[in-house]
Amino acid sequence: MRRIFLFILFFVTINRVFAFDFGIDSGVEFEVGAISDAELVGERMRSKWQPLDQLPKAFLDEPDIRQLKGKHIILYTDVKSCAAVDNLPQIFDQMVSELCVYFGLDLGRYDKFFVRGFLIDDMVKFSKYDVLGGMKELRYGYSLRNQIWVRYQSTEYYQRHLFLHEGVHAFMFYAFGKSTPFWYCEGMAEMLATHKIDDGKLRLGCFPSNVSATAGLGRIETIQRLVKNFDAAIDNKIDGKVDLNIGGNKVGVKVGNKIINDVKDMGVIDVGDLGYLFSLGVDGTGERVELYAMCWGFVMFCDNHPRYRAAFRRLAFRLTDSNTDFARRFIMLISCERKIDVEAARLSLEVDWNDFRRNICYGYDFSRAAIDFNCQLGAGANLNNVSIANNVTKNNDNNLSSEVVIRADRGWQCSGLRLEANRRYNFTATGSFQLADKPAIWKSEANGITIKYNQGAPVGKLCAMIISDVEAKKLESKLQVLNSRKSLLPEYKIIGANATWKPQKNGLLFLKINDPANSLKDNNGNISVKIQDEKEKK
Ligand SMILES: [Zn+2]
Repeated sequence: MRRIFLFILFFVTINRVFAFDFGIDSGVEFEVGAISDAELVGERMRSKWQPLDQLPKAFLDEPDIRQLKGKHIILYTDVKSCAAVDNLPQIFDQMVSELCVYFGLDLGRYDKFFVRGFLIDDMVKFSKYDVLGGMKELRYGYSLRNQIWVRYQSTEYYQRHLFLHEGVHAFMFYAFGKSTPFWYCEGMAEMLATHKIDDGKLRLGCFPSNVSATAGLGRIETIQRLVKNFDAAIDNKIDGKVDLNIGGNKVGVKVGNKIINDVKDMGVIDVGDLGYLFSLGVDGTGERVELYAMCWGFVMFCDNHPRYRAAFRRLAFRLTDSNTDFARRFIMLISCERKIDVEAARLSLEVDWNDFRRNICYGYDFSRAAIDFNCQLGAGANLNNVSIANNVTKNNDNNLSSEVVIRADRGWQCSGLRLEANRRYNFTATGSFQLADKPAIWKSEANGITIKYNQGAPVGKLCAMIISDVEAKKLESKLQVLNSRKSLLPEYKIIGANATWKPQKNGLLFLKINDPANSLKDNNGNISVKIQDEKEKK
């Protein structure tokens, strides 16, 4: 039975994530202020918890162990007193309030949430009293029901990050009674723990603006390295086979006979339908930290991307689903949210995630960098078929060409033009645009400026991408997804002001100005790009 409570005051005073989610036909019958089924599961589960064992008196009397108390935590630590450590219980209490806001929960229902925590420098001091829950080693952190253990870190930011990470696990387990699927629960702990403190106020889930803001975290650098290694592996492919079909618990990418990644030891991971999302970036050096980085990246992406944010934020309430259904549910939520069919939702998620991962950087500007799928020329215009391409013109020499306008302050923009594999196309870009406004205005043309590089090319240079035909077709007409994901990866080309390109793939042409996804804000202006089919030349 579903219990429904409306907490009007709570609804009005707190800017809730779910405040405007009424009436969306997504199979989610959750209503604002109601106790969701997911919370009822959490309530039922924790009602069966046994109280924690008393800690040994000798441990409590240990002169090197301090006790730091907050409303929602008691923290035992051998780390000597300093503001960053002594402040942790207060940070934990703020985290609980912030998590209630994030998930849209009534804080009053989480009044009794209480955790026993250990912040450990010298493991021996704790292990001799048998308070480590059976652990022999601990490098980062661990949580079990309402206990957390965190290893001391020399970096203040990263110390808090790990502490919050385990705190999020403890809270979500308390609230929803579940700690799987792995990608979601670890990703959420990672994403939410990525924090800021402004004037003493804790803010969770902040995308890092620069290295020093998240000192010691290094998730962005890890993803950049994984993507680079993956691209290199693709470039050096032995027989061209990139097997991205994932079955069961095994997440693996094969290039020829070489297994880039084989994480069969991670049998606990049930990534369901989202398995391939991870496979595309992991290079298999076997470090768990890389898997955490990918979970962090994926959840950060989902929580920030304008196309997925709303659907993603409803997911916590579907933790009642099986792990496989949970991944599917996410796709369904996206499909309902955006009023597109399920396969189109899945495809757009893949394409967007791939683009984000390739271009990830500090201060990533999600709204400006998001791929613009609105086709300027109408979906699927083809230079060789004038009847379906409104904007295709013939010039005096009888050459067929088409022209699109590309904004300098946005990521990939769909031309609407379909290019055919192994045909030659001439690109001519005209106009100039602003690339920066400080310390002075920087103007550039489509060949870019060679004093600064991004992705191996000068900033300002015109770039092209083809999303291959099967995907392009699916994007346009929402056809059935094909089994093979081999053609998933887009084809890229650095174009500049004047170039000829013979793509290897059939597909929709996207264009953008080369500039990091964190510096689009200060761009301004457009360029005009003429695309001409060389075969039509006389
Ligand atoms: Zn974790």
